Amino acid sequence: MKIITDKKKLDKPCEPCTSIKEGLKIGNKLLKYLKEHENGVGLAANQVGINKRVCVVNVDKPMILVNPKIIGKFKKIQFLEACLSFPGSYIVTDRYENIAVNADNHERTLIFGAENLLKTVCVQHEIDHLNGFTMFDRQSKGERYGDQQQKSERFDTN
Ligand SMILES: [Zn+2]
Repeated sequence: MKIITDKKKLDKPCEPCTSIKEGLKIGNKLLKYLKEHENGVGLAANQVGINKRVCVVNVDKPMILVNPKIIGKFKKIQFLEACLSFPGSYIVTDRYENIAVNADNHERTLIFGAENLLKTVCVQHEIDHLNGFTMFDRQSKGERYGDQQQKSERFDTN
């Protein structure tokens, strides 16, 4: 598997999985990839060229989401984000501190909140991927963190 870094290819929404079994099979592949690349905390299927609504997060523990959907969100926050598809880019995004998510492979609604913000934001980031959005679509208008060039300048002076 290879990570897709072409933004145009990441702009399309994914197709729903037709079964939980299909989704879990893809999810396990994604988790395996993430474990081999320890710099990532989340991955969406379309980032490796699989056009299906499956994503994984691995912040405190590995989790697969098949056909996930955000059904509730509360309290806007800003967060500094990175993405495996855009190595070296860090941007400040507008996100929510609390979200409620339904996924076919989880019986109950999942609640993510302030007690693990990285995970809460990661879930939003990955579900965005499945809907054809990247972190650049969520870039905060209020705050900016340096682009790649500024970053290398910053390191040069240290
Ligand atoms: Zn990403």
